[in-house]
Amino acid sequence: PSHFTNLPQIPTDEPFAVNASYIKDTYPKKVNLGIGVYRTNKGDPWPLRVVEDAEKAIYNAQDISRHEYLSIQGDREFLRLAADLVFDFNSVQPCADTTQSGLDRVTSIQTVSGTGANRLGAEFLTRNISPGNVWIPAPTWANHHTIWDLAGVPRKEYPYYNSSTGEFNYEETLQTLRTSSSKNDILVLHACAHNPTGADPSREQWEGILDVCKEKGLIPFFDLAYQGFASGNVGKDGWAIRRFFEEGGIEFVVAQSFSKNFGLYGQRVGALHVVSSSSAAQGVSDDILAMLCHLVRGEYSMAPRGGAEIVRRVLGNKELRARWVEDLDTMSTRILSMRKALFEELVALGTPGDWGHVVKQIGMFTYVGLSETQVFAIRERHHVYMLKSGRISISGLNETNVRYVAMAIDDVER
Ligand code: PLP
Repeated sequence: PSHFTNLPQIPTDEPFAVNASYIKDTYPKKVNLGIGVYRTNKGDPWPLRVVEDAEKAIYNAQDISRHEYLSIQGDREFLRLAADLVFDFNSVQPCADTTQSGLDRVTSIQTVSGTGANRLGAEFLTRNISPGNVWIPAPTWANHHTIWDLAGVPRKEYPYYNSSTGEFNYEETLQTLRTSSSKNDILVLHACAHNPTGADPSREQWEGILDVCKEKGLIPFFDLAYQGFASGNVGKDGWAIRRFFEEGGIEFVVAQSFSKNFGLYGQRVGALHVVSSSSAAQGVSDDILAMLCHLVRGEYSMAPRGGAEIVRRVLGNKELRARWVEDLDTMSTRILSMRKALFEELVALGTPGDWGHVVKQIGMFTYVGLSETQVFAIRERHHVYMLKSGRISISGLNETNVRYVAMAIDDVER
């Protein structure tokens, strides 16, 4: 008999399973709104133009060191630029004393993309501050459940989404955290473009979240997977994190991904940033880095270097960076125009219900508002694939299929 006959049954990962069913489907008009990846108006993947140019430059340089090991921390220049994108140190008056800019408050390490940053951050906090609970939004990116389950921290949910308004459920979230959270609990927050709902807190609401974190002694854990991809503007999408940073006294972590905003999904480029309070910064950052390196060394020694080199070249060069901003704009603009197109088609069809949330929500996803039964019906009858929560990836829509999708939604809504 095998040692492995009694393994617990693990449910299949939904987005990847939906994608596999879509690929198998032979119906010519099939539509994939399941997986969170950018697609062009033709439905194809889109390597960013600036990324292709950086790849050519790397290839042409034929640097004999290009396949050498990185340090355990990773590519340090990449990390400097990655942290700068989040915290905007460039906007701070240049000054010799790093304590003034706050730079010394941030300890960064390269990770295996955003998932790896979430996982490493969870491991780091669990081992070093022994949180009682982790608070995750209901609903959230399903992998948050897996990541915190593996870290062994009890999960609690805060009521993030108000399905009747299609908005962030501010009052109830604050109420829940005020009454039920405890000191050192971790609070997982999507920095922008909440997955799966597309509903974000307003700036005033972020202030309220910050207050409750201070009041209750919570440790915010920002998941930043869509910076610049959501609004097209990196500064705007990073606002909440910078606001928490400026507060000075609060310690938190940021899991940063370059999958979506550089289209580098399979290259696994990311970083984890640990922010210590201004008063503690100088005393602790070396120890934080040593601990992070220890955890990484025992898992996989260091993150991969290829994708990080592309990001470093682009962010570190003024001209390439400007072209990256153009590419971000191309992606976010197309997604916005598809939101509008879907909304207009549904209104034109007179589909029962209010569809305003489709244009109000931001980023890659929308909770379109279909029940699980309707999601299965739309797949059966029309070969339109989405997650059973009714989450759709807007970028799977294009000028050719948007009317078809609207008609399919209309059909299951009646
Ligand atoms: N966090 C959220 C909320 C996401 O939606 C994703 C990707 O879909 C990630 C993190 C991590 O993605 P990756 O590991 O590709 O960077």
